[in-house]
Amino acid sequence: MSITTNNASSAPCMETTDYTNPIIHIDPSMCTGCRRCAGVCPVDAIEGQPGEPQTVNADRCVICGQCVQICSVYASDWAGSSPQEAASRRQERLRERDMPADIGEPLFAAYYSGSLNKVTDMMTKPGQFRIVQCAPAIRVSIAEEFGMPFGTLTPGKMAAALRRLGFDRVYDTNFGADVTIMEEGTELIRRVTEGGPLPMFTSCCPAWVRFAEIEYPDLLDHLSSCKSPMQMLGSLVKTYGAQLDEVEPANIYSVAIMPCTCKQFECDRPEMESDGYRDVDEVLTTRELAYWIKKSGIDFMNLPDEEFDSPLGRYSGAGSIFGVTGGVMEAAIRTGYELLTNEKLPKLQLDFVRGEEGIRVAEVQVGELELKVAVVAGLQHAYGLLDRVQAGECDYHFIEVMGCPAGCISGGGQPKLMLEKHRIEAYRARKSSIYGHDAGLQVRKSHENPHIIKLYDEFLGEPLGHVSHHLLHTTFQKRGPGKQSRSCDAPAKETGSSIH
Ligand code: SF4
Ligand code: SF4
Repeated sequence: MSITTNNASSAPCMETTDYTNPIIHIDPSMCTGCRRCAGVCPVDAIEGQPGEPQTVNADRCVICGQCVQICSVYASDWAGSSPQEAASRRQERLRERDMPADIGEPLFAAYYSGSLNKVTDMMTKPGQFRIVQCAPAIRVSIAEEFGMPFGTLTPGKMAAALRRLGFDRVYDTNFGADVTIMEEGTELIRRVTEGGPLPMFTSCCPAWVRFAEIEYPDLLDHLSSCKSPMQMLGSLVKTYGAQLDEVEPANIYSVAIMPCTCKQFECDRPEMESDGYRDVDEVLTTRELAYWIKKSGIDFMNLPDEEFDSPLGRYSGAGSIFGVTGGVMEAAIRTGYELLTNEKLPKLQLDFVRGEEGIRVAEVQVGELELKVAVVAGLQHAYGLLDRVQAGECDYHFIEVMGCPAGCISGGGQPKLMLEKHRIEAYRARKSSIYGHDAGLQVRKSHENPHIIKLYDEFLGEPLGHVSHHLLHTTFQKRGPGKQSRSCDAPAKETGSSIH
């Protein structure tokens, strides 16, 4: 099967600005105009002439942070300055970037605004119950910031470090991922059996959601109404978690550690609140957490392994694989298959959805249903597929889209790697580590996680029930008139298989 690409003539550029990008920036005094950033931008949001400083078009930018990851320009006009002047210019730039004054690493031309100053200020505020959650992709990358080989797996050290930084509860986004499977899987079954808009798209990746809102607003009812795992867990922290800990939601300060530059945008979306409380108050990236640990003098690699707190920190292997491309699909099939057929899935390792950047498609026999699925990694590959959905020519049931080339393990907030060969090695090692983590866990299906079963028994009732609907589901906004002037002349590589 091949994907039809759209080479239609360009539509005019969107003029309206619904959002001023406060997160992704290019420092004009440092940018040399090499346009390597433009080469990785999936939505042509980097504008400027070669050899001149570039700018980010906030209307188009989906905040994936891939331009920040690839930017290698850190030479600056302070080279000929006196040491005092250079130090003062550096401090000025750190302030602009909202980064702590004592960070020692080079400052690159493309950057994202930090949140660490805000978080460390809030951590000293008395009377707060401080809760943190960590995305699946952090535990396979943070050790690289401490000189360890690519992909070193350190969930226990991360939990220990977060306790030493002052958090009262260390929870895990993987638990939110398990809840996502319960909700999203049920939604898919309902759409397939009751005739809802198909294909259904996952909604975990905020860069993908923003892309759909800008480029394909007429397809928004194809997105699952589920909040992302981060937002679901954030919502549960201030409701179920607050009840268990007997604390007032108003006194909970909820932080998420993410591999992603777009997650701050997501947590700031007005829809992302429950009963007047923000689901998540602040997001830090992997790199920011590493700065914080170093700055606090914590000897990360010699920390004893500690467990995440129960119940909102206990996860299945299915929750942990959300960090790689194909992970949401694999987790959904593990649960969906068993719920639909009442039979055990013969093999948990679903190689047909695992892979690299691009598109993978498969047909899976689930009872009577021949489920057609697709996995997209890298937003530039989504255009052709979405054009087909728009034209009514796409008969898939379920499509996973992740904005970054290898999923969240390659997110814009992950440790920055200067060389292409290092990025490839790191992504492979992180992926293999995530799959190894899943394989080593006793519970590998979301619906078999005993803490998930208890959550539904004690609090949520049933997936897609009244409480879940209120806390865990959301709406999307049209942010533009539709597909912009990007020409999709690079056909995405599509690989496929049939599994019966
Ligand atoms: S953050 Fe992503 S979408 Fe925005 S300019 Fe950078 S590469 Fe492009
Ligand atoms: S793939 Fe992951 S890291 Fe990348 S934009 Fe999406 S959620 Fe963020």
